Amino acid sequence: MNAIDILIKYWGYSKFRTKQEEVIENILANKDVLAIFPVGEGKSLCYQIPALMKNGVCLVISPLISLMTDQLRFLSSKGIKSIAINKNINLNEIDDIFNKCKFGGIKFLFLSPERLQSSKIKNKLNDININLIAVDEAHCISEWGHQFRPSFRKISDLRSILPQTPILALTATANKYVTHDIITNLYFKKNHEIVKTSLKKNNVSYLVLENTNKRKKLIELVEKIKSSIIIYANTRKNVENISKYLNYYKYNSCFYHAGLSFDNRKNIQEKWIKNQFRIIVATSSFGMGINKQDVRLVINFSLPPNIETYYQQSGRAGRDNKKAFSILLFDENDIKYQQTLLNQRYPKSYEIIDFYNNLSNYLQIPVGMAPEENKSINIEKFKDRYKISSIELYNFLNILQNEDYIIFKGFVKPDSKLKIIMDTNNLYKFQIENRLYDQFIRLLLRTYPKLFSQYVSVNEETIAKKINSDIDFVKKIFKKLEKLEVVKYQFNDENTISIKYLSARTDSQYLSFNDAEIKKRKKSDLYRLDKMISFCRNQNKCRRNLILKYLGETVSNDCENCSNCFKQNK
Ligand SMILES: [Zn+2]
Repeated sequence: MNAIDILIKYWGYSKFRTKQEEVIENILANKDVLAIFPVGEGKSLCYQIPALMKNGVCLVISPLISLMTDQLRFLSSKGIKSIAINKNINLNEIDDIFNKCKFGGIKFLFLSPERLQSSKIKNKLNDININLIAVDEAHCISEWGHQFRPSFRKISDLRSILPQTPILALTATANKYVTHDIITNLYFKKNHEIVKTSLKKNNVSYLVLENTNKRKKLIELVEKIKSSIIIYANTRKNVENISKYLNYYKYNSCFYHAGLSFDNRKNIQEKWIKNQFRIIVATSSFGMGINKQDVRLVINFSLPPNIETYYQQSGRAGRDNKKAFSILLFDENDIKYQQTLLNQRYPKSYEIIDFYNNLSNYLQIPVGMAPEENKSINIEKFKDRYKISSIELYNFLNILQNEDYIIFKGFVKPDSKLKIIMDTNNLYKFQIENRLYDQFIRLLLRTYPKLFSQYVSVNEETIAKKINSDIDFVKKIFKKLEKLEVVKYQFNDENTISIKYLSARTDSQYLSFNDAEIKKRKKSDLYRLDKMISFCRNQNKCRRNLILKYLGETVSNDCENCSNCFKQNK
């Protein structure tokens, strides 16, 4: 079948969108290609169609489980066999997966860059006929990209395993530095092609509002634009507070950050997509892989660290090509915050070594030992003992993780425990006599049916949502019920981080951190923060064009639609 036939058969379209065909033709000619397409422009189709035209399996390197799951679901709905190796697959299942690739008609094998590091998997790759390597979200390769992931750097190992297989790198944004990094890091062949569609969005108005009362402005904005809204803010605490504040004024909002459990995040995200929440307040961890069409407004409540992040976030407005707004609220405090953050993110190597020793001591791990089980630290106690802030703690852990010393799962609040101690008859009586608690107890029993026989992990937040209240209220009722000897309640207020050592504790003299590399990354981050700040401070040039120019596009007419264009036209 040719490309058009496949497009019609599986996708039901009769025509390609701009540039898709160019990418496909180049891959079929066995060239390496970097495709820079904005989200929603049909990037995935660019690897799916040529892979379906060729014999063998297409290997897709993808950074996020949710992106993989979406693609698996999509392909299976088209009757195309595909399979994923992500962190949930154990080594025993891998033989089976590769057998399926060899004999079972699998067309797409999804792999996370972290799993690609396994030598078992690397060896197996030679065993199957791989017709194309697709690297999704390829900007993660570059320290100039806004989501640098060290394991992405090692994707290039594939070149020595599969020297003849063409590589297609896909990303939504890449300036000249990122482009250069992707091409050199993946060892693109000389005859490679870069296919780029314009990142220009004509329907989005870019406004930067300086030195306003941010909270007051927020209310004005959500009042004025009565549609689906995303508000980005810098910290988990801010995100929660802003959402609380909006709800107080009866603007229906929810919040999202990486500190919430996976189920919770998924649930919130789905409700927002279905417009059950009009406004979502989130940290930058929100958004990848989400394609909601009708967002009319994206507000950056805090200054983003660089223009790439800013443009990616604001790009979630107006996917349906109807009029939309991106509004950035900016003041001097924002600059200070980002600068401090940046300095903390890149500590000196002796500071990292100190931290590593402190961590190992805290966990009572002697030099030369690697505990098999996950260890956990109590965040408050640890911060207190070693006099560091949450951000510093998080950064140090991140560095150790990036250097493959540990893996950590962060800032998890262990669930509280609850058990009903009153017997069924007395509870029944109690419910009749205390109408106020009756509903609540019934809800509890519906949510946690085993409450009678044992302690059950309960989540105050889940309950609070169900009764349209807040966590504190739920805690209060639990405590009251405990006083009345109905339940036993163990509230857990400790925040912990779970840590797994990947290798035995190393003696400090053998620990090494690449200072030059760290310096280089800091420099590029500083450069990009400076660009972000000067973008905000620029009072006369067209904002949309400033962004596009930064991202490496040639620009012509002003947009006539941004806060600076408005000023010029007055
Ligand atoms: Zn403009």
